[in-house]
This record gives sequence, structure tokens and C-alpha cells, in this order.
Amino acid sequence: MKGASGRTGRPKHAPRRARFAQRRADEHGSPITFGEPGRSPKSRKEPVHVPHVVIVGGGFGGLYAAKALRNAPVRITLLDRKNHHLFQPLLYQVATAGLNPAEIAAPIRRVLRDQRNVQVLLAEVTGIDPDERTISSTAGTFGYDFLILATGASHSYFGHDDWEALAPGLKSLEDALEIRRRVLLAFEKAECCAPTPEERAAWLTFVIVGGGPTGVELAGTLAEVAHHTVANDFRVIDPTAARIVLLEGIDRVLPTYSELLSARAKRQLERLGVEVRTNAKVTGIDPEGVSIGEERLAAKTVLWAAGVRASPLGQWLGAPLDRAGRVKVTPDLSVPGHPEVFVIGDLAFLEQDGRPVPGLAPAAIQEARHTARNILRTMKGEPRRPFRYVDKGSLATIGRNAAVADLGRVELSGFVAWVAWILIHVFFLIGFRNRFLVLFEWAFSYLTYERAARLITGAPPSKVVLPEPASRR
Ligand SMILES: Cc1cc2nc3c(=O)[nH]c(=O)nc-3n(C[C@H](O)[C@H](O)[C@H](O)COP(=O)(O)OP(=O)(O)OC[C@H]3O[C@@H](n4cnc5c(N)ncnc54)[C@H](O)[C@@H]3O)c2cc1C
Repeated sequence: MKGASGRTGRPKHAPRRARFAQRRADEHGSPITFGEPGRSPKSRKEPVHVPHVVIVGGGFGGLYAAKALRNAPVRITLLDRKNHHLFQPLLYQVATAGLNPAEIAAPIRRVLRDQRNVQVLLAEVTGIDPDERTISSTAGTFGYDFLILATGASHSYFGHDDWEALAPGLKSLEDALEIRRRVLLAFEKAECCAPTPEERAAWLTFVIVGGGPTGVELAGTLAEVAHHTVANDFRVIDPTAARIVLLEGIDRVLPTYSELLSARAKRQLERLGVEVRTNAKVTGIDPEGVSIGEERLAAKTVLWAAGVRASPLGQWLGAPLDRAGRVKVTPDLSVPGHPEVFVIGDLAFLEQDGRPVPGLAPAAIQEARHTARNILRTMKGEPRRPFRYVDKGSLATIGRNAAVADLGRVELSGFVAWVAWILIHVFFLIGFRNRFLVLFEWAFSYLTYERAARLITGAPPSKVVLPEPASRR
């Protein structure tokens, strides 16, 4: 099969019958075998087939899978619709003007430039035909011997997709910059263009929906921005009067942590000046605020940090999905009926000891490395091994000197957890330059409360409302 670019997964000269026999063997569950490594084409008088591994997604799953195959006798094509790998755990720092986009992202092409067996393509995958073993993309159609799908997840608005424009979520750099724009603009509008105290209060009320780690991070940091960073920068408004309201539908924030850590997180948030409202289910969002049942909360800025929906690519496999659209994979992380297709990271659903493997970066990285090992085992004719997630603990930051850490037997909160959070996040950032810059920005911000990236960008100039000349004295 040829694509727009004329690329195909297998060499054109590969014997058709051999490929057919291979496919039949795969369909019947036999191990997939390839040309024996070590024997040259000359000695066997037939071309050695170099298996083609197509990886979709250059996030934690896709990037680490490609890296784990760096010494493997395979040819890899990695496709991503973005040209950069994004360190999502620090997105909230871009959204709250603490870091610049380039400090938490790196071009995938640069990260993999020394790995000779991989080609990186900027392309969006638009279809998968698992029976034909092809994927279609904006860069053409590709055949594959092994496919690794790692396209992650995005927000779910629980059937209210119309809320998306009113309450942006945080998943990409574009989302983070839009949130930054709305937050900084809200202070400007309150200063220049809010004639009544009610309107000023609405501009200075920031509602975050969802009390998971992202909601908690956003709320804590926004409180710091309002109560310290911009506290002395305005003449009409008092930014320290801003309300930061965190709404959570169930009875505690950080529900994946223990009840003790949830309670401590709530206390730390309140100390930072966040109003934490639990058992508060949002029933409506409009440009003027949110409804919680009968109650009305006037707020011009609403941010969404609840609900996850898996990337739509899983639907094209014809495999069973869970309620969030994640692919229910077999224990070796392949798709039922298609041992050559692996799904990893946030797109995969696998239960371990009665609980789903969490949608976290370490899980995606471990799955990526495990899949690379299973591909090599398959190529050698060895049986695959089931995946087992090793939980090394989880951390959530809340704000300055405030975090919680669940390290299995040890639970930490406050300053020690916060330092642990900083060290781990800096360690996992891609590239020395980014690590250095982020540490520098944080140290500067810690000492001064200043945030380096307080720029309002992205809004059409006509939409930035300036004060009427008459209102100036
Ligand atoms: C705001 C936020 C904070 C987080 N904080 C933490 C944290 O503190 N700790 C932690 O462990 N985890 C955290 N996570 C979760 C963690 O980031 C994810 O678990 C991890 O990124 C999953 O990796 P992945 O490879 O499955 O998907 P992703 O990293 O999301 O990568 C998916 C990639 O696929 C690409 N893609 C998608 N669709 C297509 C397509 N059709 N064609 C081509 N390319 C496509 C995307 O561009 C993207 O590069 C956070 C997530 C978010 C959103």
C-alpha cells in the first residue's frame, strides 16, 4: 500500500508470500519471526527484513518507547502532530506565568537526533487499519510490523462540550497560554473597566473546577499570584481581595491520595487563601459565572481541571474501551486480537491488583520500556512478559512550601514534600538547559514572589479593552 508520500512499512522487494505467511502466523498467535540477526543478505541470498516500528505520539509513552529501542535492529517512524515533547506536569507553571513555554518543552526531532534508527515526522494520524496493518496520517500512509499508540488523553466536560470555550482545560501549551491570558486580563479588566463593585468582584473571582492534582496546583498558585505577585501593581483594585475558589464534586480534594493527605492539602490551600468547596457539583457555566445547583457564583474566569477523555485513536482499533475511551489492553499491553499493536500511557486501560494503572508519567514511561522489551522478545521468538507497574509514589504540589507526597509507607506534607516535588520534576525535565532555567526561575520566584512570564499574548488587539480617556483623571 502506498501513501501520499509513497512510503510503505515493508520494503517493496519483500516477498509477498513471506509477508502473507507472516501475517497468518501472527493472526494465529504464533510468535512473529524476522530475518536472523547476524546473517548477512549475501550469505542467505535474500533480503533481511528490518522490522518497521511505527510510534504515534511523542509524549512520555512514545518518546521513551523510541529511546528504549535505540539499539534494536528495527526502523522506527515516530509521528506527532506537535513538533515538541511536552512536560505536562509543569504546564500549570506556564498557565500561571511562572515559566515560559520553551522551558517545559523540547523539539522531538532534537531529542532524538543522535538516534539513527528513528525518523521523526510532524504529522497527525487520521486513521488506523489494524487488519491491513496500516496507519493514515497527514504525511501519508504507513505500513508497520509493530505499532505503538501513545496519543494520551484530553479533557472531558461530562457531556457539556459547550463549556469548553467558557472554561478552558490544561493539556497543551496553547491551553496554558490561553489560561495565562485570561487570568492576567481579568486583573486588567477589573482595574480599567469594571464600573460597579459587583463587576469588579466578578473579574477578581477565579473558579477552578476539579480538585485533583491539576486543580489544586492551579488554585494554590493563582492565590500566590493574586496575594503576592501582583499585590502592589494596581491603583484602583486591591488584588489581594481576589477570590480563588476550588470546586470539587466529591467530599475531598486529591481523592487518589489518602484521607489524611487530602485533609492536609485542604488545610495548606486554605492557608494560601483558597476557598475550597467540596461536594460542589457544577451544573452550569456561562460567561458570567458558574451554577452549583441553585447557587450562583459570579466569576469571569472559570478554569477546568476535571474529567479525562482518552484520545480518539483507540476507537479506530475496534478493541474494547472503558468509559473514558481508553483501550482495554491485554497484560502484555497489546490489543486483543492484534499482538503487533501496543497501546501505552494515558490511552491504555489495564487493571493491576483490582485497580487501574494510573494515568501518570511514570506509568507511561514504564509501559514504553516494557513494550520495547516485548518487541525484542517477539523478534527473537521468545514469549512476551506481562506488564507490572511499579508505583514509586506520587506527589502533588500546592504552592510555596506546600505539597503532599505519598511514598507508599511514608506520607509527607509541607516543605519536605515540596522540596521532593521540585527535585523530582527538575530531574525528569528533558535537557540540561531546561533544568537549569527552571531551577533559576524558581529560585528567583521564591526569593521575590515575582513571576517571569507575565505577558498577555494571543488576544486580538481589538478585544483588549482600554479605559475610556474620559475616565482618567
Ligand atoms: C496538567 C497536567 C499535569 C500533570 N501532572 C502530572 C504529574 O505531576 N505527575 C505525573 O506523573 N503525571 C502528570 N500528568 C499526567 C502525565 O502528563 C500523563 O500521564 C502522560 O503525559 C501520559 O503520557 P502519554 O505518552 O500517554 O501521553 P502524552 O504525554 O499526552 O502524549 C501524547 C502525544 O500524542 C500526540 N498526539 C495525540 N493525538 C495525535 C494524533 N492524532 N496524531 C499524532 N500525534 C498525536 C500529542 O501531540 C502528544 O505529544 C499531568 C497531566 C496534565 C495534563
